[in-house]
Amino acid sequence: MNLSNAAFDLAALRTDQERDAGITDARAALKQTGSTVCIDCGDPISNERRLAAPFACRCIDCQTLHEAEKNSR
Ligand SMILES: [Zn+2]
Repeated sequence: MNLSNAAFDLAALRTDQERDAGITDARAALKQTGSTVCIDCGDPISNERRLAAPFACRCIDCQTLHEAEKNSR
């Protein structure tokens, strides 16, 4: 039995839950106004993208990834 692996899995699970909770909060706050920073990676969203999509809450990279994940389900 490898205890360090179990500890790592638990930590990873907790991080996922905290991240999901943070994203849910961010989504609720950003329902109408969008964001200046990506809710997934924290990078700034370019002014160009915000003008094109004022409600955007992800950078182009994360939005593309998000849509690809959504479509693969
Ligand atoms: Zn991003």
